[in-house]
Amino acid sequence: MRRLGQVAKKAALILSTLSAGAVVRAIVSGPASGQVQAGQPEKYDPGKHYYAMGIYVDRCIGCGLCVQACKRENDVPAEPFYFNTWVERYQVPASGETVVASPNGGHDGFPEPAGKMDALRSFFVPKLCNHCDNPPCVQVCPVGATFKTPDGVVLVDEKYCIGCRYCIQACPYGARYLDPRTRTAGKCTFCYQRIVRGLKPACVEVCPTQARVFGELGELSSPLVRFKRMNKVRVLKAHLNTEPKVYYANLDGEVV
Ligand code: SF4
Ligand code: SF4
Repeated sequence: MRRLGQVAKKAALILSTLSAGAVVRAIVSGPASGQVQAGQPEKYDPGKHYYAMGIYVDRCIGCGLCVQACKRENDVPAEPFYFNTWVERYQVPASGETVVASPNGGHDGFPEPAGKMDALRSFFVPKLCNHCDNPPCVQVCPVGATFKTPDGVVLVDEKYCIGCRYCIQACPYGARYLDPRTRTAGKCTFCYQRIVRGLKPACVEVCPTQARVFGELGELSSPLVRFKRMNKVRVLKAHLNTEPKVYYANLDGEVV
């Protein structure tokens, strides 16, 4: 198994030797099709950044704009079941089981539930790859195609991916899929093609309620650090020690 340090070195090497467009095509699974604005990706130094995302659960209105923007920006297959980010609706009834639904990943919003439900609480939870600091998907990849960049983003190099699906099985968050067009693993990249240009991920950019916060973990002035400081945050499935870097504020105890 390839050691993480070597993998990071590989990412740094790729980043330092290729043009920005080639960087993205070389290390990001699935070419971006969105309108990425100008920036200076050739000046981007991955060693100087460390990214994470925060989500205010109580701000999410389940509009699905983030899911739509993500599909456009990252050329995610249009069919349902292929999502880099998706939104789940939790309905906690007065009695009985919590109902979790995500029709078409929340892409088209959430229709009213059929029938009447005596929900005590109902809320939306946006989900995506957690860009884990201790990512099992990286550990199981037999060819080193999935790797963690020095700036803390987990990517797939589709040139090396053999489509064995080990990473899909290993991810406890259901954050990966096999792209039917390339037969390689697909997932959220934090919109790497945008962040090397100093832009926010598309989902963060379009969210009308600013439910999503993106930023640097190591920078005191970062909105992400402020988000973590000002809120009681939780990560998903903390007990698995994957060390997720997507932090949730105001997350209901029903969500594990
Ligand atoms: Fe890998 Fe899944 Fe963690 Fe993303 S959430 S880094 S795909 S284990
Ligand atoms: Fe929730 Fe914002 Fe996504 Fe709408 S765009 S579903 S409010 S996270």
